[in-house]
Amino acid sequence: MEMKFCQSCGMPVTEELYGTEQDGGKNGRYCLYCYKDGAFTSDCTMEEMADFCAPIEVKDGRSSTVEEAKEKLMAHFATLERWKEKA
Ligand SMILES: [Zn+2]
Repeated sequence: MEMKFCQSCGMPVTEELYGTEQDGGKNGRYCLYCYKDGAFTSDCTMEEMADFCAPIEVKDGRSSTVEEAKEKLMAHFATLERWKEKA
């Protein structure tokens, strides 16, 4: 199966984690934490999203410091659809 990533926060999404549309349909581009009932759950900037996710990366051992994690996240986020559109 093809691995999909949420185009907002970058986390891997499986069908049960898909975001939802207003009509109850699924949106496979985003996860349910980012996109719910046809809209983004929080209107944050790419940097705010990185600030939010960085401590999780450190906790899970993917980065050793928050600064390092944030740098990696920002680079990753810049390739995602939600943030690409704004650039
Ligand atoms: Zn997401």
